[in-house]
Amino acid sequence: MSVHRRSDQLFRKSSRFFVGGVNSPVRAFKAVGGTPLFIRRGRGPFVWDADGRQYLDYLGSWGPLILGHSPESVGRAVRRAVRAGSSFGAPTEWEVGLAELVQDAFPGMERMRFVSSGTEACMSAIRLARGCTGRRIVVKFAGCYHGHSDGLLVAAGSGATTFGRPTSAGVLREIARWTVVLPYNDGAAVDRFFRKSGRDVAAVIVEPVAGNMGVVAPDLEFLGTLRRLTAGNGSVLIFDEVITGFRLCWGGAQHLYNIKPDLTCLGKIVGGGLPVGVFGGRRTLMDRLAPMGPVYQAGTLSGNPAAMAAGIAVLGKLRSLSPYRSLQEKTALLVGGIKDSAARAGVPVRVNSVGSMLTVFMTDRPVSDYETALRSDTRRYASFFNGLLGRGVYFPPAQFEAAFVSTTHRRHDIEKTIDIIDLVFKKIKRKG
Ligand SMILES: *Cc1c(COP(=O)(O)O)cnc(C)c1O
Repeated sequence: MSVHRRSDQLFRKSSRFFVGGVNSPVRAFKAVGGTPLFIRRGRGPFVWDADGRQYLDYLGSWGPLILGHSPESVGRAVRRAVRAGSSFGAPTEWEVGLAELVQDAFPGMERMRFVSSGTEACMSAIRLARGCTGRRIVVKFAGCYHGHSDGLLVAAGSGATTFGRPTSAGVLREIARWTVVLPYNDGAAVDRFFRKSGRDVAAVIVEPVAGNMGVVAPDLEFLGTLRRLTAGNGSVLIFDEVITGFRLCWGGAQHLYNIKPDLTCLGKIVGGGLPVGVFGGRRTLMDRLAPMGPVYQAGTLSGNPAAMAAGIAVLGKLRSLSPYRSLQEKTALLVGGIKDSAARAGVPVRVNSVGSMLTVFMTDRPVSDYETALRSDTRRYASFFNGLLGRGVYFPPAQFEAAFVSTTHRRHDIEKTIDIIDLVFKKIKRKG
């Protein structure tokens, strides 16, 4: 009998309500096989499933939980906010409180707008860029993810055409063609495109450190090229820091690499585990948004008090604790351990990491863009994932995702993880 009896039962039941039994596709474990675990609760670095089994968690709800699961301060803040009311559809002091913290970290966000997801932040930033420039083309990079709006579910067109093609049914070719997809870390390709069509580019949107093809660090030159070309052509540079904002340092990748975008999109950590996104930038640009300008954007629950309160609690802690160095040290310990284990077992891996984000790519060659990421052996990753899960370690259930270390992971949690990874690599090697 399965050790996940209750999860299996719940999955059968949830499949009667939800498509594939889930409310977001990657939760369905399709990339690694088996049925998803139903999680009952989390505390610090641990989660417990519906059968009461404990896991050391490196998923962190896909990025938001930099302070681990259910920190006291967040629970307290949310309870206090909800006692006052759950939503007013009117401005509140909570919004101002969170905005002050966001702007302290991202001074370039002179004006900002709260939304309820990263998808909305990116979608709205692009509409604003088009509204301001009167241009149509958006440049994105293969392997970067910016949420599920129509114009961003696009892959590179085939052959010599630069027109994008939809990656989802239901996205019109007429929409996708205005998104041009170029290879990540390839400044020369961007340069070539801008020489031809730079004056038609409304925006370039990029994950300044990629997390959604697995972790891929940017070449400094690449980000610099994007800044130079967009500035020179009157295009809007959008940094999608939905993962990296508050993950890499106070001020995100734009602070770390000292390159300032025109617009910044945030999500995940900024909501402290509740649904929040935000986009912002220069005042003159942002003031083109309704009610000041002609670009429409709105939201019934935008700036929701409970969500704002959670964000304030988490950002307040991050600012006062400044945990980034210690996070990086713990991540380095984990990365070093994984590399040593893999080498001992003779399993070829590339471990990419920036700050407290990491990905174990099942390949022996460097991963610097989507094409090289795709060389990974995804079946081997599935064995790795399932080997870990069976031994109480919860990694992302797909190869092309980031794992996260939180402030609550202690050194001995990491050492224990490395011991388990050691076992799993040996087992993978024996099976071939
Ligand atoms: C998660 C993510 C998004 C989308 O955010 P949602 O809150 O899931 O809509 C956008 N961009 C990046 C870089 C992300 O990682």
